[in-house]
Amino acid sequence: MEERVHNFSAGPAAMPLTVLKRVQEELLCLPGAGASVMEISHRSKAFAEVLAGAKDNISTLLNLPDNYKILFLQGGASLQFTMIAMNLLKGGTADYLNLGSWAKKAIAEGKKHGTVNVAWDGSADNFNRMPTSDELQLTPGAAYVHSTANETIQGIEFFNEPETGDVPLICDFSSSFLSRPIDVSKYGMIYAGAQKNIGPSGVAAVIIRDDLVEKCAEGLPSMLDYRVMVENDSLYNTPPAFGIYMINKVTEYLRNDIGGLEKMEAINRKKAETLYNAIDESGGYYVGHAVKENRSLMNVTFVLKDSALEGKFVEEATAAKLDGLKGHRSVGGFRASIYNAITQDSVDALVAFMKDFQKSNG
Ligand SMILES: *Cc1c(COP(=O)(O)O)cnc(C)c1O
Repeated sequence: MEERVHNFSAGPAAMPLTVLKRVQEELLCLPGAGASVMEISHRSKAFAEVLAGAKDNISTLLNLPDNYKILFLQGGASLQFTMIAMNLLKGGTADYLNLGSWAKKAIAEGKKHGTVNVAWDGSADNFNRMPTSDELQLTPGAAYVHSTANETIQGIEFFNEPETGDVPLICDFSSSFLSRPIDVSKYGMIYAGAQKNIGPSGVAAVIIRDDLVEKCAEGLPSMLDYRVMVENDSLYNTPPAFGIYMINKVTEYLRNDIGGLEKMEAINRKKAETLYNAIDESGGYYVGHAVKENRSLMNVTFVLKDSALEGKFVEEATAAKLDGLKGHRSVGGFRASIYNAITQDSVDALVAFMKDFQKSNG
């Protein structure tokens, strides 16, 4: 087999090697099915177990209260920007926090279905921090508040959920889902495209509280209607079966091999600390984008003091099998995405490279 790279891609992103090997083992024959998971009916007993397993794992990992439903929907996180607004904004007013590139996209979709009040806007500082609750200009009686747990492109993360009182908090967790424990009861709904932390692209995990499902608009196209999806347990039509299967495998791994989200958080904190320390101890050679309090544990964004060396850095890093480090054009520089599946070894290899590069190009 060709050697695997240290994969710092922002998404689709690295999967745990253990999971990939298990999937390879049962690719031709899912135990009990006599065929691949891609070749069996989504109404079969074997697939019912896969779907139930994925839900049970997520529910256990998050300590999910009984009054929430878990859905697996097609269209990635981006379709959720639309579905949220169609189902729950319904021509009314909702508050959106403009926290970075993904929030901006959610806001643009929201505006097509009602009045969007931007309750906080981080664009003046090029999205280098998250707001505190007392900075938010919330609308009393809003349909919901929309937030982003981790802005993947800017590399900033919320560590305290915004306080929204009685207004349901809806949060895009695409790039930090299942990376650490959260208190789901503080949210009306959370959602995540799978391809950062829990599976392949094209499927989104949605966790929605029962009272929000009851409030959904009537008469929506069935495929865009949360109520229809809940009533059919994500099986209204043929679901993204392989994606759900992968989510089951990854969450089973998180549960049994890692040992839960506290353990996952400790591993993630250690990796992030290693990398941020390397930035901080470089004497200003590397400069982080985010303010310290909101530094993402998942996406580490930084630039070189001498931006003329950026091309060389990426070229030499790629040659050293450190892949996917080029930053998004809106921030520039570099982004090391260190999701759950990235090992401490990969982070150590990156830090060693950064130190060598500084020595040779100081
Ligand atoms: C990647 C990402 C998205 C978009 O996900 P798609 O599945 O491509 O639609 C949305 N929000 C955040 C925070 C992301 O990181």
